[in-house]
Amino acid sequence: MKKHREAIEAKLAKVKIEKDKEAHIVVNKELCPDCPTKPCIPACPAANYEWEESTNELVFNYEGCLECGTCRFICPLDAIDWSYPRGGFGVRYLWG
Ligand code: SF4
Ligand code: SF4
Repeated sequence: MKKHREAIEAKLAKVKIEKDKEAHIVVNKELCPDCPTKPCIPACPAANYEWEESTNELVFNYEGCLECGTCRFICPLDAIDWSYPRGGFGVRYLWG
């Protein structure tokens, strides 16, 4: 898992993300404990979704988002309120 995280961090270092203080993706985490397969966790290419066993809750980091839209479509409980970042914020792919 650590190696996987390191590999993702190395790839993320090749893109530029202008971070916004305002979240462009909001997850209704109350629904997540009842989600049977939690597909957002393996599907997100930036590993922005993780499950915290100690608190039995989803941990989500919108700031590392690559704006692929996968989580928006894959969530079976429609728990993800998804939009693109505001103008001037978000990922830029031409910097790497
Ligand atoms: S797929 Fe949706 S409901 Fe399931 S854990 Fe992820 S955000 Fe929560
Ligand atoms: S849009 Fe893509 S990169 Fe962003 S959080 Fe969802 S799955 Fe991850």
